[in-house]
Amino acid sequence: MVERCDVVVLGLGAMGAATVYQLSKAGVSVVGIDRHHPPHNQGSSHGDTRITRLSVGEGAQYVPIVRNSHRIWRELEELSGESLFEQSGLLVLTSSPEFDPNDKTDFTLRTIGLAQTYGIEHEVLSAEQIRQRFPQFANVHDTAIGYFEPGGGFVRPERCIDVQLKLAEQHGAILYKGETVTRISSNEQGVSITTNLRRLFANKLVISAGNWSSDLLGKPFDSLLSVFRQKLFWFELEENAGLVGHSPTFILTHGLGDDKVNYGFPALHGEGSLKIATAQYHTASSPQTMDRTVSAAEERDMYEHQVRGRVTGVTSKVVKSAVCAYTVTPDRHFIIDEHPSLQHTLLVSACSGHGFKHSAALGEAFAQWCMRGSTDLDLSSFSLERLKGKSL
Ligand SMILES: Cc1cc2nc3c(=O)[nH]c(=O)nc-3n(C[C@H](O)[C@H](O)[C@H](O)COP(=O)(O)OP(=O)(O)OC[C@H]3O[C@@H](n4cnc5c(N)ncnc54)[C@H](O)[C@@H]3O)c2cc1C
Repeated sequence: MVERCDVVVLGLGAMGAATVYQLSKAGVSVVGIDRHHPPHNQGSSHGDTRITRLSVGEGAQYVPIVRNSHRIWRELEELSGESLFEQSGLLVLTSSPEFDPNDKTDFTLRTIGLAQTYGIEHEVLSAEQIRQRFPQFANVHDTAIGYFEPGGGFVRPERCIDVQLKLAEQHGAILYKGETVTRISSNEQGVSITTNLRRLFANKLVISAGNWSSDLLGKPFDSLLSVFRQKLFWFELEENAGLVGHSPTFILTHGLGDDKVNYGFPALHGEGSLKIATAQYHTASSPQTMDRTVSAAEERDMYEHQVRGRVTGVTSKVVKSAVCAYTVTPDRHFIIDEHPSLQHTLLVSACSGHGFKHSAALGEAFAQWCMRGSTDLDLSSFSLERLKGKSL
């Protein structure tokens, strides 16, 4: 028997959970399907915390999206009673011997520029002010520059997903977890979706399959999307470090190139550690073959190259670690577009390592696309067209 519904959402991670929530809230009959049991630790949406900030140095096109997300996280907190979004304050800083105050590509300078253009509340800090206000950065270079956004901070990814999925079910969404979509086809009437357990027919399909997207969809996505394994580390706090309640969410640039940037989160009450990570874009992987453990050598390497002498108040001991993976496009911006050959299908790859903060608002926009074929937010810069002729 073929099950029928208005919309199927394939993948219930950050993007899919937000989409089924918004659709069900609007009264649309929606089925969500996930191969795992979200929130889970096999994709891109785990590890306790994700940075969020209004001045999105990745580009001006993201500013209206994140603004909407901040509104929705607060609405979800009201509805669920869960704490999802903490405005711990966000410090973006560059402390590097190579720092050039005229370098338009510097992430801190780009963030400051956007905040000025969009009237986002912030302070620009000198090296001395950074040292005084944030003792964990007591060692910054004399030329260091900082951007402090008091309204920035972090969200709790697993909780956000869990809350939205639970609310979606309360609104009548049907969620099939532990079930894998194996085949998709479409005709003028709608889309057929086959899983390992059933067949469905929907008027619309939203595909938000994260790391698995290129395997599922083939051309042209297999040459546009790459999966990169990333590691997360929780470093033990030094005794009497005094960071709990006094450390911000941060992004630290300490040289030129991707491997000279790290980011971290506040020392949280009761945890005794500080989460710090960096990103790599040189060794591609796949969800099937990825090593999901962090080795002792990787822990040592992280401490030596990213932490020692740069972030004070932590020891070299890693008390917890995790592996998570980015799905990355050639220009590191999202792909959000109608599928080039499947009819009635929206394809979403909103990762490249910076999508979570936008997920609540994107879910709202994808629900609008399903209901009326257009979105209040301008998502045109995420079209497939811009990547024509490009590959990884
Ligand atoms: C280490 C790390 C740090 C990050 N830091 C930040 C940050 O600080 N701030 C920020 O904004 N963003 C950050 N991001 C990015 C953000 O987390 C991602 O953009 C976001 O989680 C992507 O969500 P998604 O829904 O696309 O993927 P996922 O949440 O992985 O969801 C995809 C889902 O699809 C399911 N699925 C796949 N194939 C099938 C199938 N065939 N059938 C059924 N189900 C299927 C999977 O099981 C999975 O649940 C980070 C990402 C990582 C990995």
